[in-house]
Amino acid sequence: MKNPTKITKAQDGRLLVPDCPIIPYIEGDGIGPDIWKATRMVIDAAVKCAFNDQKRIQWLELDVGEKGFQKTGEYLSDAALKSIQDHVVAIKGPLTTPVGKGIRSLNVTIRQKLDLYACVRPVRYIDPVPSPMKHPQKINMVVFRENTEDLYAGIEWRAGSAEAESVINFLEQKMGAVVPAHAGIGIKPISAANTKRLVAAAIAYAMDQNLPSVTLMHKGNIMKFTEGAFSTWGYEVARERFGDRTITEAEVYEKHNGRAPEGKIVIKDRIADMLFQQVLLRPEEFSVIATPNLNGDYISDALAAQVGGLGMAPGANIGDTCACFEATHGTAPKYAGLDKVNPGSLILSGAMMLDYMGWGKAAESIRQALQATIKAGVVTYDLARQMEGATEVKCSEFAQALVSRIG
Ligand code: NAP
Repeated sequence: MKNPTKITKAQDGRLLVPDCPIIPYIEGDGIGPDIWKATRMVIDAAVKCAFNDQKRIQWLELDVGEKGFQKTGEYLSDAALKSIQDHVVAIKGPLTTPVGKGIRSLNVTIRQKLDLYACVRPVRYIDPVPSPMKHPQKINMVVFRENTEDLYAGIEWRAGSAEAESVINFLEQKMGAVVPAHAGIGIKPISAANTKRLVAAAIAYAMDQNLPSVTLMHKGNIMKFTEGAFSTWGYEVARERFGDRTITEAEVYEKHNGRAPEGKIVIKDRIADMLFQQVLLRPEEFSVIATPNLNGDYISDALAAQVGGLGMAPGANIGDTCACFEATHGTAPKYAGLDKVNPGSLILSGAMMLDYMGWGKAAESIRQALQATIKAGVVTYDLARQMEGATEVKCSEFAQALVSRIG
């Protein structure tokens, strides 16, 4: 077996993955330790089987979150951030963020500090997971959520604070705005540069995966200069960088009788509230959705529910220098330490990570084993409560059931 070494990036951005890459992981808070243990077991088994023991992952634990605070007094150290950057690829469990007080979100901080600007969340139905939809097999979408700006930028001040009062005074006196007295204030920055790199990543993905459309989701009728501008800049980057491969929906109707020419990716936009309706009524019309941060957070949880819930929703945060894979859900504190929840979301995020590393054979064996296990009716509580005749198993037992089907 080769010595453990770091993954690196070539000048052209390609990943150079050794046979024994060192991959940092953050176990996470709440249910994190349970789902991470399960995920690690499944990834290791898939890699071993796919590559006949010729490849393996050397895991490197980073103490972040509550574990980090207990051990070092820091929730998220600079050393942990640097380690993710240095190792190029990492995976993490969920981390706690208190509501309305306490520390800022560690998840958001990791994404912002490492400039992991694209949050990529594929939503695909796995037969026969119970779904509230009549035809869940029609759902096959990938959300590209902008990860570094919007209301998540963390520029906000508590109601009544000197800072909030000072911003209100400025807005009223210099800008002629009317602001409710003593309001809390949050700022929503959306920039052309960050929008364009996100939408470009979404279009490149659609090209790579041969997908028919990219939908720009926004609330630009109300927030014209932020969300409206997101849509305008999205169309701009499609034209500027991918003009030969893309066509707007308007052009499809004006020049091609409503049928997109072969090989062209249709760029369209939808107002956010309407899109929530359309992904329920006509999900087959959407494949890649590119959207600002807050919309992306909402739509990815809603879409996850359509294919069976948060327990099955994987995700990745990808930047130009490194990537960090994580489940879409949070720490589900009431289930912490019970070995109960569905590890599917983190396991599928692990499969995305293997794909990203070019170890697609191992990734595919994980997806097949997951589907076979669920088909056999072996599921955790969240699916068992919706599936008649299912065998409810613990988180760790679900992982063992997958391992037994790998290969
Ligand atoms: P949550 O942790 O996602 O859990 C909400 C509910 O979703 C759970 O009660 C459970 O539903 C279901 N669920 C979540 N994960 C599941 C799994 N693996 N298997 C089965 N069901 C699962 O959301 P929350 O309670 O709003 O947030 C808790 C904490 O997590 C907060 O501190 C929040 O800030 C943080 N958070 C972190 C991340 C992240 O690390 N990226 C993301 C979101 C939230 P039932 O009760 O119906 O069983």
